[in-house]
Amino acid sequence: MDETPLLELRDINKIYENGYHAVRGVSYKLGPGHLVGLIGPNGCGKSTMMHCINRLHDTTSGEILIDGESVLKKSPSEIAKIVANVPAEIKNSFGLTAYETVMLGRYPYMKNMWWEPVEEEEYVLKTMENFGVAHLKDRQLNMLSSGEQQRVLIAKAYVQNPRLMLVDEPTSHLDMKYKLDVMEYLTAMVRKDMTILVAEHDISLMARYCDTCIIMKKGKIVDMGDPKEIITPELIEDVYEVSATVGKDNDGELFILPKRYRNKGGFQI
Ligand code: ADP
Ligand code: MG
Repeated sequence: MDETPLLELRDINKIYENGYHAVRGVSYKLGPGHLVGLIGPNGCGKSTMMHCINRLHDTTSGEILIDGESVLKKSPSEIAKIVANVPAEIKNSFGLTAYETVMLGRYPYMKNMWWEPVEEEEYVLKTMENFGVAHLKDRQLNMLSSGEQQRVLIAKAYVQNPRLMLVDEPTSHLDMKYKLDVMEYLTAMVRKDMTILVAEHDISLMARYCDTCIIMKKGKIVDMGDPKEIITPELIEDVYEVSATVGKDNDGELFILPKRYRNKGGFQI
């Protein structure tokens, strides 16, 4: 990559206040227009790393650059215009409706915080239609199903008009069709030159949709590249300590199937 990357991490470390070293010497560069899968076991530092990028957490050492400039030099509203966040779940939606939630994505662009211009309202409603959530607009976010909430949160991130989207475990609670829908939405945004970093446990889904995967283990990157090349039974064994079959279906798409434990008698309780 010759030109300035959209995102660059240089030797990032995050040590929490209790001394836990969650991200260890992570470095990589991403250009525009990539769908990047972030894969690794629970607790390996995926969310922590994403929170460092959007400055929800301060890094302990290292540098994060967006368009070649340190994120520390950017104000929160500047960052919000470039980086949007889709959290895994909403812990408290403060009684906001789906429409109000999506509208929040427009606030970095609004000069007046007290009312929304008509064109903003139209843009938000049009986007909600595109993401199949317009009919939910007056419902409270926390009353919606996981799949509906996830679509609303993606619509909110989309109207922020970011160049980088950080999506944390978007499909964990979703059925097959909703999972594919989410990945199709993300793919459509990548076609518009957005880069999306998505943490996700469904490796088969990641292998289908992502052009690049970053594999993490215990706070470090163990591999990065085209999932079709890097995802192997050896990698799965190394990272997850699980034996798995890695195969190709009739369309040539990768699938990953974990094998059941074969140690004598299985787990003993
Ligand atoms: P992942 O998203 O890959 O599941 P996280 O980034 O959430 O992992 O967590 C990485 C590690 O950091 C875990 O061991 C977790 O317990 C720990 N951790 C997360 N948040 C904190 C915190 N605020 N203080 C201390 N340790 C934390
Ligand atoms: Mg996480």
